[in-house]
Amino acid sequence: MSIDNPHFEVSKHKNYLYVIKENISLVHPVYTNDPLNLYLLLGSHTALLLDTGCGLFPLKPIVDELIGKKKLIVFNTHYHWDHPLGNVEFGEVYIHENEVNLVSKPYDVSYFKDSPNEIVEIYRKQDFLIPPAKTIKPLKDGDMFDLGEIEVKIIHCPGHSPGSICLLTSTGELFTSDVAYYGDQFLPKRENFPKVLKTLSKLIELCEKDKNLELYPSHRQYPCDKTLLTDLYNGIENIENLWDTKKAFDFFEAWQIDDDKFRYFISR
Ligand SMILES: [Zn+2]
Repeated sequence: MSIDNPHFEVSKHKNYLYVIKENISLVHPVYTNDPLNLYLLLGSHTALLLDTGCGLFPLKPIVDELIGKKKLIVFNTHYHWDHPLGNVEFGEVYIHENEVNLVSKPYDVSYFKDSPNEIVEIYRKQDFLIPPAKTIKPLKDGDMFDLGEIEVKIIHCPGHSPGSICLLTSTGELFTSDVAYYGDQFLPKRENFPKVLKTLSKLIELCEKDKNLELYPSHRQYPCDKTLLTDLYNGIENIENLWDTKKAFDFFEAWQIDDDKFRYFISR
């Protein structure tokens, strides 16, 4: 395979599942959740790309080579910068209806202006405004997509962001987006924790229904199992007890709290 951009690392995880990895710490060292995992699912007639990454280098030629003549649909798991910035390369992108507006206009990444990393020159050339896809289409909870031999169901998972989605496949994968991964956690304001916990409970329930479900997070290690969800649930529930240990982390306008498994950034 002639994948000629070393920025992306492509690996074939299953016959029908590729992982395209991108390191987001290249943009700013404050991000430690490397790699970012973009997933490409290949059904018999349609391929699904889950997220388009940081938008630094062409992604579409890589995807085109992997999918051959199959039709392609593209989803964003949510609107945070590391997931939709390659959207412009693809004519049409789906995202949860709560976040359609957020990715329909040029995406402002001026908070990277002072990054010590030279790669942000690529953003500077675009005045730190990354263009959107031509068409953004809304998703909602329960929407189904038939890729041919693989069916994909959209699960709305508010908490990490208002329109975060997870994907459940008929082949036994649960793509958990940034709702659950092992790494630094970005959480909403403390009063919204019940939303985050409710979402995690919903996913834990899915894992109890299907004990063989494999979890594919959008950052760091994969596949994971239900333990990831319970670790995170218990950790977030325990933040209350650690609240006095919080420190200000200004880059994210957040409070930082650490426990033995995670580092949490909580919106102020
Ligand atoms: Zn992310």
